[in-house]
Amino acid sequence: MDLYSVETYLRPKSLTEVSDWQPDWNWLAGGTWIFNEVQPQVKTLVDMQQLNWSEIEVTPQGLSIGATCIQNDLLDFSFPAPWTATKALKDAVRELASFKLSHAATVGGNICLALSASTFAPAMVALNASYEIWRPNNSEPYFVEAVDFQTAPQQTILQPGEVLRRIKIPIWNIAQWQTSFKRMAVCTAGYAIAIVVTAYHPQTQQVRFGISGSVKSPRLIEFDTVPTPEQIVEAVRAMRSKSFREMPRHIYLEDEQGSAEYRRHLTQVLMQRGITELTTGINGKRRY
Ligand SMILES: Cc1cc2nc3c(=O)[nH]c(=O)nc-3n(C[C@H](O)[C@H](O)[C@H](O)COP(=O)(O)OP(=O)(O)OC[C@H]3O[C@@H](n4cnc5c(N)ncnc54)[C@H](O)[C@@H]3O)c2cc1C
Repeated sequence: MDLYSVETYLRPKSLTEVSDWQPDWNWLAGGTWIFNEVQPQVKTLVDMQQLNWSEIEVTPQGLSIGATCIQNDLLDFSFPAPWTATKALKDAVRELASFKLSHAATVGGNICLALSASTFAPAMVALNASYEIWRPNNSEPYFVEAVDFQTAPQQTILQPGEVLRRIKIPIWNIAQWQTSFKRMAVCTAGYAIAIVVTAYHPQTQQVRFGISGSVKSPRLIEFDTVPTPEQIVEAVRAMRSKSFREMPRHIYLEDEQGSAEYRRHLTQVLMQRGITELTTGINGKRRY
């Protein structure tokens, strides 16, 4: 799409070149969403490619993924064998769209776009990821937990000019945990109306559910031991608001694709399917 309002294109090699951030500037990563929508408010595109933030790093502390890492690169990367939870990241790529999107779109682009149907956000929440945020004025970077990054559909905590630099997943959460990715949509090519990424540690029995699609911003539900179906129903029912401004009844999305009640129900069904699959090896579809 021709973005008629865009007058300037910048390709900085470092953030100091864009320290004078203006309100009508916009970060450009893979461009798969930006060039898909009219952006009347954008006069300048700030291309991130030359910042060289596309690394995938395996360290003793865990996994670090640069914001401009192309999504497909996660599929091709050879992770250490014990890092079983990297399956959730590969599933996030496969469940998003076809290779035509994932060979150009970046991991950071999906997270920062912050659609409710994001496939990366629930995976990052389940894996206890945190995001490193850089500011254009070169002041100290800061970290935010994945679960706190998105505040509503297409809204994040990022302030103008702030940029997601990298994603970090602790070694404890990337190694040993088993994961299951469950996504439900009204039609095959449609946006998800419920996504649940389940992470399960077979030795400790801990369980973490990352939830998106059904809710306005990603959620975490965790248990110290494998939950019963009744505990899952209760946890979904009792899901708390993130702030006093968010009324409990507004946690779930409601639109022409599904009511809030339907999405809430699907969420608990997918949670049950995920944990059944991981603890019994049976694909939950047979039982629910
Ligand atoms: C056919 C199709 C199907 C899709 N299905 C889904 C789906 O099911 N679920 C879903 O979530 N999305 C879906 N999308 C949207 C998809 O997630 C995005 O197109 C893609 O992930 C954006 O990545 P990008 O690198 O191209 O980002 P861009 O298009 O370059 O940028 C997206 C937004 O994020 C901002 N941004 C990018 N990187 C950063 C950063 N590091 N720091 C701060 N801001 C940044 C940009 O300024 C822009 O506002 C679909 C898109 C298509 C075309």
